[in-house]
Amino acid sequence: MSLLVVGSVAFDALETPFGKTDKIVGGAATYICLAASYFTKSVNLVSVVGGDFLPQDIAMLQRHGVQTEGLQIKVDEKSFFWSGRYHNDMNSRDTLATELNVLANFDPVVPDSYQDCQYLMLGNLAPGVQLSVLERLTNRPKLVVMDTMNFWMEIALEDLKKTLAQVDVLSVNDEEARQLSGEYALVKAARKIQAMGPKTVIIKKGEHGALLFGPEGEIYFCPALPLEDVFDPTGAGDTFAGGFIGYLAATNDTSFGNMKRAIVYGSAMASFCVERFGTERLVDLTEKELAERVARFLALTYLEQPLSVA
Ligand code: AMP
Repeated sequence: MSLLVVGSVAFDALETPFGKTDKIVGGAATYICLAASYFTKSVNLVSVVGGDFLPQDIAMLQRHGVQTEGLQIKVDEKSFFWSGRYHNDMNSRDTLATELNVLANFDPVVPDSYQDCQYLMLGNLAPGVQLSVLERLTNRPKLVVMDTMNFWMEIALEDLKKTLAQVDVLSVNDEEARQLSGEYALVKAARKIQAMGPKTVIIKKGEHGALLFGPEGEIYFCPALPLEDVFDPTGAGDTFAGGFIGYLAATNDTSFGNMKRAIVYGSAMASFCVERFGTERLVDLTEKELAERVARFLALTYLEQPLSVA
């Protein structure tokens, strides 16, 4: 099944305890598309970049089978730029700069060739823009997944609530879930967010895994793989989302049971992302590496003997 991805395509400058980068290619949609490309061959991008964006970076996405007809290039403007610095625990970071540039007036265009997409990933972007993409589709997709962040809660909360009301799944981290709901306990936070629209809520807890809250009160937990070295967490959340929706699109099954499998795939993809800077580790993964990684996830919680209290 075809997947439509909207989100930022950006330049990022990153600082972690292990080093620093100048401007490298990043952006929520970049990570989502790369991760999803390992599951489905039909990934269609809607985004915008400036004249400073390098043709080889667009070619890199195309090499992964990503359709870029919906990627606008504003030759006289600059690409979105984000810069962040991670603390020693690698779980928290400070945003040093968010320069919207081309994103400030982004008016997304959904090409006709994307109209039949059944799966829609609303990657991190102004919530009003996310909603306009959904509205510009002739038929509502079978599943709409949305990501967002504190930045948009602070400057566009009303738009965010309108968009939330239209989506099926929200994927946020624990801090964002607390900020959006005003609840500290994540179970309560998830229930409050479900009441705002999305029947399914994913709350990511960084190195502590991810929780999936289903429409009937179901809760599933997937741990994160304990890694010896975490190099750069940038894009881990987007990569998770790309693996999650890519798997759902590939299997065309949106049941809660399949979403449980999808968060294992999303977590496996995210575990690769953090092993190197930026998108480096995501560009040349093999099927064998992915299969081995998923097997390690299953082994983490597998019990040879059933549990018994007797
Ligand atoms: P993550 O680490 O999963 O939260 O995603 C990091 C990516 O999100 C970076 O590549 C940034 O370019 C992108 N990003 C950061 N802030 C924003 C924003 N306000 N809107 C859209 N994308 C953003």
